[in-house]
Amino acid sequence: MTDTDADADVVVVGAGASGLSLAWRLVSGAAGAGRAAPRVLLVEPPPGPLRSPERTWCFWEEGPGEFDDLLTAAWTRLSVTDGDGRTTTGACGTTYKMLRSTAYTRELGARLASSAGVRRVTGTVTGIRDVPGGGETTGVDADGRPFRLLSRWVFDSRPPRRLPPARTTLLQHFRGWFVQTRRACFDPSVAQLMDFRTPQPPPGGLAFVYLLPLSEDEALVEYTVFSTSVASTRTYETALRRYLEDTRRLGDYTVTETEHGVIPMTDGVFRRRAGRSVFRIGAAGGAVRPSTGYAFAALQRQATAVAAAYGAGRTPLPPEAHSWRHRTMDAVLLRALATGRIDGGAFFTGLFRRNPLDRVLHFLEGRSTPAQEWAIGLRAPVLPMVRTLGELPFVPLRAVQAERPSSGVRSAAVEHGGVQA
Ligand SMILES: Cc1cc2nc3c(=O)[nH]c(=O)nc-3n(C[C@H](O)[C@H](O)[C@H](O)COP(=O)(O)OP(=O)(O)OC[C@H]3O[C@@H](n4cnc5c(N)ncnc54)[C@H](O)[C@@H]3O)c2cc1C
Repeated sequence: MTDTDADADVVVVGAGASGLSLAWRLVSGAAGAGRAAPRVLLVEPPPGPLRSPERTWCFWEEGPGEFDDLLTAAWTRLSVTDGDGRTTTGACGTTYKMLRSTAYTRELGARLASSAGVRRVTGTVTGIRDVPGGGETTGVDADGRPFRLLSRWVFDSRPPRRLPPARTTLLQHFRGWFVQTRRACFDPSVAQLMDFRTPQPPPGGLAFVYLLPLSEDEALVEYTVFSTSVASTRTYETALRRYLEDTRRLGDYTVTETEHGVIPMTDGVFRRRAGRSVFRIGAAGGAVRPSTGYAFAALQRQATAVAAAYGAGRTPLPPEAHSWRHRTMDAVLLRALATGRIDGGAFFTGLFRRNPLDRVLHFLEGRSTPAQEWAIGLRAPVLPMVRTLGELPFVPLRAVQAERPSSGVRSAAVEHGGVQA
């Protein structure tokens, strides 16, 4: 054993959204219940390509939340604009909250640093396996020395090397600019979820601009595409420039920061259990909602459930992040989109125009009731959706072909914490 070898109750691999959240829930849950804190080792790679780049998380939350002090912005009014410029705006009962990963990482890092029982280990994990009595996590530390960690349980949040076999796999890929304008251009009370006045990919995909105003002269503006392969930086930036300069006519503006991401949208099933004592959490554990790419709220729910099971002495298997019903509806939607049976822009703008906003948001948040889903279904393109639902059981699951690096998917995905091809 070298001096980096250690044992613990729990090893958490990865200090991104899910790793930090789980480590914090484990220690805060124990403190809240008056139990001794579990000994947690939180392993993260040294600064470099394996670290997830900074990102912006948005999520819906009803009322005040635990991270409200960390938010960059929050909205209760949302809008969607179709390709002809018709806008639907509405007020919602939940708040759409924007949290920068830097703020979250700093705050949870500080909370964990003052928690007895948590130790952070800088190292790259290369192997995790069951051993008698628990799990073994091996890797190399920042100086290239091997380490070995033994624990009762291991939670792995490393991006999966491969996506699971699926009927449909699309990528949600985007590039965003934080822009500062010379004059007041934005309404900071309204978050623009989708604006379809932007170049569209061929049938089988869709594209829109997502615009989150931070003040009258500052916003995060993202060109977002759902399709089977990522685009070049130039494609995203040309679309952003056209949108800001021609569609919105913002006048002079400065790009102060950029953000880029690739999120797989798949109806494949992520295995949450990788061994007797080894579990996957976060995006690796299926937290990404297939139809939207949102994961932050789901991975918080997963972390809370795992910590509760651990505290109660049960096997801490992370629960399914999304219900069977929602995953089935998402599978239908993904396939209807990918086959070009529905027009993505018309579908999403119709969803917001023909339904009360809270009904749509309950669906997107995964807490809609069957009655709400039925109502949404009746206002959707019924025939193509029913045909897609009917054929779903007969569509084979296919392994996802990793594209060659030259296509950009692999490098972009690794760089931005998506999928390691
Ligand atoms: C740019 C971007 C924006 C997003 N925006 C939203 C949003 O607005 N709302 C939302 O709900 N979801 C969003 N998502 C989806 C999802 O919430 C995020 O991807 C989220 O960060 C997933 O958390 P995670 O812990 O599963 O993965 P990550 O946060 O990526 O964490 C994975 C961790 O594993 C570590 N790691 C990797 N390899 C190793 C190794 N070999 N050894 C040890 N550690 C390793 C990494 O350093 C990282 O810390 C976004 C995703 C991206 C990429």
